[in-house]
Amino acid sequence: MYAEVLAIGDELTSGERLDTNSQWISQRLAEIGVPVRFHTTVGDDLSACTDAFRVAMDRVEVVVSSGGLGPTADDLTRQAIAAALGVELVLDKPSLAAIADLFARRGRTMPDSNRIQAMFPAGSAPIANPHGTAPGIAVQSCRPAGHDCRLFALPGVPAELREMWSATVRPAVVSLQPVSRTIRHRRLKCFGVGESQLESLLPDLIRRGREPTVGITVSQATITLRITASGRTHDDCLTAMQPTIDTIRSCLGTLVFGEEDDELQHAVTRLLAARGETLSTVEWGTGGQLAHWLSDVPEAESVFRGGLVIGSDVTARDLGPEVREALAQHGPYSAQLAAALSLSAGPTLAADYVLAISDLPAIDTNCTTDEWFGIARKHGTDVVQSRHNSAGHPDIRLVRAAKQALNVLRLELMTPPQG
Ligand code: AMP
Ligand code: MG
Repeated sequence: MYAEVLAIGDELTSGERLDTNSQWISQRLAEIGVPVRFHTTVGDDLSACTDAFRVAMDRVEVVVSSGGLGPTADDLTRQAIAAALGVELVLDKPSLAAIADLFARRGRTMPDSNRIQAMFPAGSAPIANPHGTAPGIAVQSCRPAGHDCRLFALPGVPAELREMWSATVRPAVVSLQPVSRTIRHRRLKCFGVGESQLESLLPDLIRRGREPTVGITVSQATITLRITASGRTHDDCLTAMQPTIDTIRSCLGTLVFGEEDDELQHAVTRLLAARGETLSTVEWGTGGQLAHWLSDVPEAESVFRGGLVIGSDVTARDLGPEVREALAQHGPYSAQLAAALSLSAGPTLAADYVLAISDLPAIDTNCTTDEWFGIARKHGTDVVQSRHNSAGHPDIRLVRAAKQALNVLRLELMTPPQG
């Protein structure tokens, strides 16, 4: 049994609003073991919507749509479903009474236009919407091949849609196919190499058709490996995924920094918290990115002492003698400058580690060549330097630099003490 998720609305096809409903519905369908074959997005146009419903009902067994059930002239979902099924719209008196009652409870008169929300394609049933005026529509169609298709049309308002899914649609889909299988995902987060290099470190895991499947995506220099398994229960899925996860972890070692929603700042905070150590930051080139990320980590309270953000107009004079000297002798993109910056944290932000990032060189037309430096200084010990190429798209350069700095510290914290 396969599903299609249909999202309706000009605000979606124009790019004005992000279609979050399809994402949410697909996740819920996966939880009850129904794989989604298609996502279709269609504007508020009767003939386009009719086609979309017809095509969907012909190729899958379950269609869940969202949007277009409002009372206004651009809401055409009910008409489109009726046209796709070749039936009339008929008035459902109990629905009309429920809509009128909702208006009465809100102390308002029901406009005539809302009457349309009580009209349903002949043969369909309303799906109750306790907190909105638009009931949903549930209907069964016969596919040409003789298979049935169940269609559930829900309103676009995410809160209403979610409530109606749980109360009505989910149980109805489960009754079609008792939950005998479920689909689960796990994500491993990696940092430090490029996407294709990372793939080359894995023994043929990304191959299509493999079970469990392993997908690879990269966003803002962080690589996510997404492992997907289907099984009878949640635990069966986890058990099926474990050998793949073990293989990935042993092939990638410290390139894997976390799981699920983890970011590098979570990994670093965890490592520091386990050691009872603290961190502060001094950022010239990254405009406070590190401080922002670190202060967002829930457990950072006991770890992150604070950050100093240096604006690009600040002159060396404002930054104390060490910085002044480093700048004069080695320039703004030097290890020496980063080292001197790490001292700028001073007694106010004194911490076990200071992570300092020098200025980032202006990007050249090739987006390559230049280098910048990050420093993690452990109080009273040697400075850990890192030197990075500033290549990459200008839009992610800053984020990548901040991630590289965090990664330097993460690797340092994971290195067993010498001797
Ligand atoms: P409608 O049911 O088409 O009148 O939509 C009602 C509200 O839900 C509008 O504010 C839409 O922008 C919003 N909405 C409709 N479809 C979606 C969707 N796929 N994802 C997120 N919001 C949506
Ligand atoms: Mg709409």
